[in-house]
Amino acid sequence: MNYEKLQQQILNIYNKQLKHESKYDEDFMKVAEEQTDIIIGKIYRLTKGKDITNVDLYGAKGLLSKIATILETAVKNIENANNIKGRLLQAAQALNSDLAKATNLEVDNNKEGVNKTLNAKKEYDGLTLTQRLSKHRVSYYDKLLKLVVLNAAQKKSISDLADAIEKEVRGMCYAHGRVMTTELNSFLNEALVSIYIQLGIKNVEFSAIQDDRTSWMCHENDGKVFAISELHTSVNKPPLHPHCRSILLPHE
Ligand SMILES: [Zn+2]
Repeated sequence: MNYEKLQQQILNIYNKQLKHESKYDEDFMKVAEEQTDIIIGKIYRLTKGKDITNVDLYGAKGLLSKIATILETAVKNIENANNIKGRLLQAAQALNSDLAKATNLEVDNNKEGVNKTLNAKKEYDGLTLTQRLSKHRVSYYDKLLKLVVLNAAQKKSISDLADAIEKEVRGMCYAHGRVMTTELNSFLNEALVSIYIQLGIKNVEFSAIQDDRTSWMCHENDGKVFAISELHTSVNKPPLHPHCRSILLPHE
């Protein structure tokens, strides 16, 4: 077994993946800007150009419920536009096919199998993908609604409101990026370990990307060698935390 060559091939596949991930982040931020404009436009039309910030939203129950509907729709639109599940499925299938090419192994590329792995409950937060996305949907809808009420109560301007909404919507899109990164990291490491087992490889080297974003846990584990039989997700098998970028490389 040529460990060095295999390590290099895996790192190439991984670097390709990282490039895709930064492209997803750009896409998500575009959606954040578009949706912010739509939300503000709708609220502005609803109040017929009057400054919403002079309205007592608790008193104006009808208006508040219309705004709530606008925000609820926007949050759903953001999730649909970002299409996390679709992107993950595509990226995971591409990873599998790259790994199969690099190792000449049969790596299951079937949609159902990939979907099943992606939707499994994850040890780092105990949630399935659907639960995780639904948690974001509820939390960001809540945050947006509170923000509108608070801005009105504090009599801030519509442009202050737009800025505050954009910040929250960006937060949601950032959270989607984090889901993508963490899920794909989990998928890649699971796939790598299954390939190593098929190749009769017994040990792996923990490899962290060392930069200003590296977590303490990953920094501590970087370069350590573990037996495959001693790997535990969230302990020494990445992802160790949300947004984890570490991977397990084959080691003699
Ligand atoms: Zn990490």
